[in-house]
Amino acid sequence: MNRDSYSDMLAEVQAFHDKHDFKNTGGEELMYRIALMAEELGEISACASKGKSVEQLAEECADLMILLMGTAIAQNFDLKRAFWGKMEKIMKRESKMINGRIRVSEFRDQVL
Ligand SMILES: [Mg+2]
Repeated sequence: MNRDSYSDMLAEVQAFHDKHDFKNTGGEELMYRIALMAEELGEISACASKGKSVEQLAEECADLMILLMGTAIAQNFDLKRAFWGKMEKIMKRESKMINGRIRVSEFRDQVL
């Protein structure tokens, strides 16, 4: 196993799904997965609001990443391809300072 390889990481997430038979036990249902991802996002938020360590933040981010990769498995899309496609788009976008913070967006239908 190559720990730097996305495909090896994805295979490990697939093994996790297979171990608990997520496909046949509701673990791959999209709405359930969205709820789980929201839960993890809340845990990431708590790291900031409760002053938790960067190690705890990293673990919660890993939880979310595993869920995202598992959602790609469940919904049968190529997350790596989507990642690179999106990076290509956002690298071409402009940025603006909004309320003291930088924002990179398409800035459609916005009066700033
Ligand atoms: Mg967590």
